[in-house]
Amino acid sequence: MNIEKYHQILHQLPESTRLIAVSKTKPVEDIQMLYDEGQRLFGENKAQEMKAKHEVLPQDIQWHFIGHLQTNKIKYIAPFVTMIHSIDSESLLVEVNKLAEKNHRVIPCLLQFHIAAEETKFGFTLEESRAMLQGPVFPTLHHVQICGVMGMATFTEDMQQVRREFQQLHDIFQSLKEEFFAEDEAFKEISMGMTDDYPIAIEEGSTFIRVGSAIFGERKYL
Ligand SMILES: *Cc1c(COP(=O)(O)O)cnc(C)c1O
Repeated sequence: MNIEKYHQILHQLPESTRLIAVSKTKPVEDIQMLYDEGQRLFGENKAQEMKAKHEVLPQDIQWHFIGHLQTNKIKYIAPFVTMIHSIDSESLLVEVNKLAEKNHRVIPCLLQFHIAAEETKFGFTLEESRAMLQGPVFPTLHHVQICGVMGMATFTEDMQQVRREFQQLHDIFQSLKEEFFAEDEAFKEISMGMTDDYPIAIEEGSTFIRVGSAIFGERKYL
């Protein structure tokens, strides 16, 4: 745990950017310690792990789901999750909508975009997201609310490339805002920036940075 670094990051944040402390793989004691410092937004990437932590930790924690979500796992988080950042297909959004309806709630969601050069990262292209937003299914989904976009930059030392990718995500946000969400005040979030690149993400307009290892220390596995 690096509480000093945590406060350093907080001091760097403009009004428009919030910090999600990414606590995946970390014990509840670490989360409680950061909670006691005032942190309320936490990020997890495994549904069962998030559920287990939610059950034992303070109920005013806002849980952000940031990992690839399998449809058969949505049920674990649907009753309480604050926001799902990783909607990467229409079929996933349809399933989230179903579970949200079952739980009598509307789940805030972000559309994840593929902005990195790596093959392995999940997400829509701009064209795919347009096709979904213009399609016949999307208007029937009353239990999800699209609040913006999320992306991960390439894992590289080349910070110019990272900056270009964050700019690309910002451009995607602007295009979708103008085309589909101009009247929708809820569509305002750009989730980008991790331990190695959050200062650049802030400069490029991030509203949520998702920082794990800088605060909690290195993880043994992803
Ligand atoms: C693990 C993870 C993070 C945080 O990564 P760090 O490099 O430890 O800050 C952010 N976003 C996603 C989607 C992650 O899976």
